[in-house]
Amino acid sequence: MTGSDNMVNVERLAKSLPLPCHRVYNNLLNLFGDSLSISNIIDYVELQKPVIVDYSSMDVGRTGLVISLTDVYYIVIREDINNKRKTMTLLHELSHILLNHIKTENFLWNDIAKQIPINILYDHINTDTYASPLELEAESLATVLDIKIRQCEYLASLPTIVRDSIKREYQK
Ligand SMILES: [Zn+2]
Repeated sequence: MTGSDNMVNVERLAKSLPLPCHRVYNNLLNLFGDSLSISNIIDYVELQKPVIVDYSSMDVGRTGLVISLTDVYYIVIREDINNKRKTMTLLHELSHILLNHIKTENFLWNDIAKQIPINILYDHINTDTYASPLELEAESLATVLDIKIRQCEYLASLPTIVRDSIKREYQK
């Protein structure tokens, strides 16, 4: 994030995405505007049910997964990656939820207490390749959300008078 030249293209980028991504993006922007943040997105998802995020070791090539249980969303993020990739992975898994990609498994969090049945894990792992359209959607949405969130953080860091003039500039 270097400044106002990066403010321009995220809305145009969002419009070029598959329709479901564009819809979710617009919906989040209508709700949160310039205060879009990961914690606001999690709050929004938690209107459905709580989100539990865990950090753990994972097989080579995997950075995260999300499982919908009856009472919670359970997200696992690979622990030995840098913070930027952790953020992108969290946004990717949240995007699967926001885009309605995942079916809910008939288990309660307390029933399984982190011991996710192996067949459910493999279900998720097998569908989780970047060749699939759903992965492309999740990654696309995560990417525009990441850019927008960083823009919001940047704007929030500026003095009001500068912020207003930049916003006027990129809304032209
Ligand atoms: Zn995925």
